[in-house]
Amino acid sequence: MHYFLELFVVLVLGSVAMHVSDPGVASSLESLRIDGNLSFHDVSLAARDFGNRYRLLPSAVLHPGSVSDVAATVRHVFRMGSGSKLTVAARGHGHSLQGQAQADGGIVVRMENLRGCETKVHDGEQPYVDASGGALWINVLLECLKHGLAPKSWTDYLHLTIGGTLSNAGISGQAFRHGPQISNVHQLEIVTGKGELLNCSAEENADLFYAALGGLGQFGIITRARIALEPAPKMVKWIRVLYSDFASFTEDQEMLISLKETFDYIEGFVIINRTGLLNNWRSSFNPQNPVQASEFDSDGRILFCLEMTKNFDQDNAETVNQQVEALLSKLRYIPSTLFQSEVSYLEFLDRVHVSEVKLRSKGLWEVPHPWLNLLIPRTRIRDFAAQVFGKILPDSNNGPILLYPLNKSKWDNRTSAVIPDEEIFYLVAFLSSAPSSSDHDSLDRALKQNDRILDFCKQAGIRMKQYLPYYTMQEEWRAHFGDRWEDFARRKGVYDPLYILAPGQRIFQKAV
Ligand code: FAD
Repeated sequence: MHYFLELFVVLVLGSVAMHVSDPGVASSLESLRIDGNLSFHDVSLAARDFGNRYRLLPSAVLHPGSVSDVAATVRHVFRMGSGSKLTVAARGHGHSLQGQAQADGGIVVRMENLRGCETKVHDGEQPYVDASGGALWINVLLECLKHGLAPKSWTDYLHLTIGGTLSNAGISGQAFRHGPQISNVHQLEIVTGKGELLNCSAEENADLFYAALGGLGQFGIITRARIALEPAPKMVKWIRVLYSDFASFTEDQEMLISLKETFDYIEGFVIINRTGLLNNWRSSFNPQNPVQASEFDSDGRILFCLEMTKNFDQDNAETVNQQVEALLSKLRYIPSTLFQSEVSYLEFLDRVHVSEVKLRSKGLWEVPHPWLNLLIPRTRIRDFAAQVFGKILPDSNNGPILLYPLNKSKWDNRTSAVIPDEEIFYLVAFLSSAPSSSDHDSLDRALKQNDRILDFCKQAGIRMKQYLPYYTMQEEWRAHFGDRWEDFARRKGVYDPLYILAPGQRIFQKAV
């Protein structure tokens, strides 16, 4: 339904070759004393994101030379009062899908340029790292590894910023053990929508702390985060097995995440069309591995791939091998489909970047990405799979589909993130690409497919939640948050009463 609006945004707004910023905005901001700089002309990059469908040009881009630059800019906009249309969007690595880090006519803060918040690792019994909200997870990892340490919970792709993933949740195959990334944060430093700079944690300014975690950037700009660490594993055994039966696949996944002694990482994906880089980029195995899952002859059936890792180092390799064997013996995969590999921990965590490099070289990275990420309650996952994989999705789907279970008890319900109301729920991620080279209808087709999936959930009464949610109307946001809405709106009134922050999420609109 929103497709034509989106097309309009891309075609009309996106085609403005040179943006001339509002002279009033420029002169008002030029009076600000800052350590970094504001750019008024070279702003088109801030109007792009990974989704590649929305282009909302800001009036200015702030390259903050310090945290005080961020605070001074937001405070300035706050003091302009409700008579001004100006908004402020923090931009992490711009890997949003629908313009969430953009600010139409507002100010975009390039968090990656933030200076004065260097990554600092603290050893000790309970090690942690202090890192800038604009730091990329890959760089934080590299710094931590120098101390033999690493964060506990990850996303599949590390070229995202700390502030960007903590504003959503940060989920990957470690979340069943450690919770999402937002369950592994000790402290945040935040610039609120009033321009105040505050420290917050479970003990200090707790309401703001929990509001910002999973808060879609609505309550403040995260300038620094303190993140829990653990000793870094050296190597991982990386294992894949295939199933043709969905029930066995999901029952095994659920059994594995419920065990005390189990794998360190558990994910899974649906294999509908096993050819082509676009379908395999998220699932491509270690390139050195000679046997690819794609070589398995499945007679055209849909396959389900369970992916697991177990950490090890040279000293405990034998014991870990035995543990892996014992775990594998409990599973009901197709016996001839066990694929194993051993890689360094860094190589495993940074695995998607390898595919990024390949896709970029073929011009397939910067294409529209009509992704849909859903959290489906366990009791409805089979109904969902039967309809979606059996009927809605055709043979060829342009992109990987992830499917793995998470457990509610590892999420903190004081944060702003919303999840289904069941102990186990599944992340189902449709990671479609729509390159114009494939055919010019591919974007339209993928968006229609997403709509059909959402319609089916509604009609079948599946009480799912969107992850990386996208809605355009406040009624839809209210439904998304459910009984958490009142609290979300109250917190907005306290920390960003003029609705200045993260306008690209389209939850609250600045009144003028
Ligand atoms: P941006 O897109 O720049 O910003 C996202 C939102 O957060 C915006 O509203 C922005 O205003 C706000 N924001 C940014 N920085 C701050 C800050 N410092 N303080 C407050 N608000 C801020 N997610 C997962 O959970 N698991 C995955 O495995 C995963 N894999 C991904 C793989 C790829 C290839 C891509 C493109 C995305 C993936 N994501 C995944 C989604 C990703 O976590 C989100 O899109 C995230 O928002 C991207 O981070 P970013 O730094 O690019 O944020």
